[in-house]
Amino acid sequence: MQANVLVEINAKKLDKTFTYHIPNNLVNDVEVGKRVKVPFSNKYLEGFVLDIHDDIKLEYKVKDIESVIDSEPVIIPEMIKLGEFISKNTFSTLISTYQAMLPKALKAKNGCVINEKYETYIKLINKDFVPKTSKSKELIELLKKGEVLKSEALKISSSSINTLKKYNVIEEVKKEVYRLDDEIEKEVPSITLNTEQKNAYEKVIESLNTYKPFLLYGVTGSGKTEVYMHIIDEVIKGGKEVIVLVPEISLTPQMVNLFKKRFGKTVAILHSGLSDGEKYDEIRKIKRKEVSIAIGARSAIFAPFTNLGMIIIDEEHTTTYKQENNPRYSAIDVAIYRGKYHNCPVVLGSATPSIESFTRAKTGEYELLTLKHRVNNNMPHVELVSMKDEMRKNNPVISEKLDEEIKNRLKRHEQIILLLNRRGYSTIISCKECGHVFKCPGCDIPLTYHKNINRLKCHYCNYEMPVFKVCPECKSESLTNFGMGTEKLYEIVTGMYPNAKVVRMDVDTTTKKGSHERIINDFANHKYDILIGTQMIAKGLDFPLVTLVGVINADASLNIPDFRSSERTYELLSQVSGRAGRKDLKGDVVIQGFNIDHYSISIASSHDYEAFYNEEIKIRKTLKYPPFCNLAFLYLKGKDLELLNKEGKNIVNFLKSKLENTVILGPSMANMYKINNIYNVQIIIKYKSLKSIYEYLDYLNKHYLVNNKLSFEIDINPLRM
Ligand code: ADP
Ligand code: ZN
Ligand code: ZN
Repeated sequence: MQANVLVEINAKKLDKTFTYHIPNNLVNDVEVGKRVKVPFSNKYLEGFVLDIHDDIKLEYKVKDIESVIDSEPVIIPEMIKLGEFISKNTFSTLISTYQAMLPKALKAKNGCVINEKYETYIKLINKDFVPKTSKSKELIELLKKGEVLKSEALKISSSSINTLKKYNVIEEVKKEVYRLDDEIEKEVPSITLNTEQKNAYEKVIESLNTYKPFLLYGVTGSGKTEVYMHIIDEVIKGGKEVIVLVPEISLTPQMVNLFKKRFGKTVAILHSGLSDGEKYDEIRKIKRKEVSIAIGARSAIFAPFTNLGMIIIDEEHTTTYKQENNPRYSAIDVAIYRGKYHNCPVVLGSATPSIESFTRAKTGEYELLTLKHRVNNNMPHVELVSMKDEMRKNNPVISEKLDEEIKNRLKRHEQIILLLNRRGYSTIISCKECGHVFKCPGCDIPLTYHKNINRLKCHYCNYEMPVFKVCPECKSESLTNFGMGTEKLYEIVTGMYPNAKVVRMDVDTTTKKGSHERIINDFANHKYDILIGTQMIAKGLDFPLVTLVGVINADASLNIPDFRSSERTYELLSQVSGRAGRKDLKGDVVIQGFNIDHYSISIASSHDYEAFYNEEIKIRKTLKYPPFCNLAFLYLKGKDLELLNKEGKNIVNFLKSKLENTVILGPSMANMYKINNIYNVQIIIKYKSLKSIYEYLDYLNKHYLVNNKLSFEIDINPLRM
């Protein structure tokens, strides 16, 4: 027998299976989907078995499989096909798609071993033994009640353990344990759905056991999570399994605890904050059918369930549902694929659906379910403040209105969230005399000043440098800083409200494991009055005492060169506004900016998503952007800019000669046109269907395989430019 093995090397050139002979002693062990160790050139590699067949004669000498790694397949049959689908549609290597589906412990990677965790227990085997010492007696009394962890028994006496073992009174047993196994008390749900929620719930329940995509569009605080949980209840009662995707950032202990309380031990949790061992355990709970719900970020869409009854994607507009490097898959596309495979509904939920998804709902591709009202029927009141006026009044950061509201919340012991979507201290340091700006030498973007380390940092490549006292260009000492990040806002706010307890949450304050949870828990327990943060705090959090949300520099995100910048701005404002007044207390929001007349800001004040959609869709239509076309971005990356431009022009000419009625733009510099001294030149194609351009993209992708002066990448419908 022979097996076709896809080895671990991720290179377009080698993206095919190699044939190996299965030696007699391994015939029973080799199975499709398992990992095997094989000789490859002059070393050993791991690979996935994708096919097994009778011997065929080949012109080269077929080598033997060295060993079989798994006792069970790590890629289930559904996933083998899914990997091919993703590889084809994202122009990525097949091996990269399988690796993306698996936790590190199960990836093909020679030399990487992540084991199960075992713990040693002590068990009493001779109940009639009469102990002589008091320590032995104490130990035996304890063991009479049942097995005890060795680490616990050691606290009594290690010498007694050894003696009792020698006389065969006790024995040690090793047991496999899960690294994440917290005991959370299950609570019986007390909430009954209101009429709107019930309608949505029933529509989904009617379609169990059929593939059907839904868009659950519900304003913030309308109780979408509660609808999900009722649906899940029904699905697992029917013996089926559920995947719930949430943005990484919402995977706070709040959300996790909510699910654990409701569904107990039947929940597996998957997110990037887990250790490799923990992820491995969570996946094994799924494979062993010990859990029927998986809740996690993007890659949880690959949870290896074999009897899926429902897929839920919360905050479906979230850009991180699409992976930004190869394989550039969209978790929503994968959800639709799996929904069809398992004949089950897919529910996409959001208060601010992506323009594309809402269009699909309007045209009937998705069934639209709407929750128009907040559970407490109380949308927060939003006030827009023009900072042009405030600058004149000398309030450059906190407006008069926001100041008044903050003081009044502090007096009433309510909580405040302040959003500033920029981390660091000040954004730019430049010279007043000659205008010199300190930029990253590798990326050519301004460096951000971080006061706590007193250094300048590049937010793209993490390059750091010390702060200069004199301008390197003109030697003048009048260096000045512009702009403001969360670090500086924190300093200003603590200065203005010395009695308030303030905490900051952004990438810089949450690098340590568990710090994210700690800040959220402490804020939830009212150890702080004010939470300052970047977009990290905008989503998913539910703090009943927050009655004021302030947004600083709300219009900053409009300046990002991306056709979705209005959509992003609207979404961020309505999400963060949604944090105010979620329970019994009424909420207020103050949005500050220079350009508050822009529709994405002015409409956010009336919480009217559909009005925003109607404005935005007009612009998309005029400028021919999605959903009126699809976009393919082609990237040429390398050190030689001239070469990239030359090749770029060749590609554009080639495509123009082949494609009619298709807009081809470029070559031009990508938004992040230089990172770490690697230039990035882009070509944009606006097209109707992938079918019409597939052949040419596939050709280009293969053509550049052998070019070692540049790398060629394709991104189909990127969500961030
Ligand atoms: P969303 O996900 O739409 O923002 P949530 O599901 O977080 O909203 O609900 C907001 C709050 O309302 C939560 O505290 C939740 O417990 C509560 N809630 C949801 N549905 C109901 C209901 N039917 N009756 C009472 N409270 C509810
Ligand atoms: Zn200067
Ligand atoms: Zn850099």
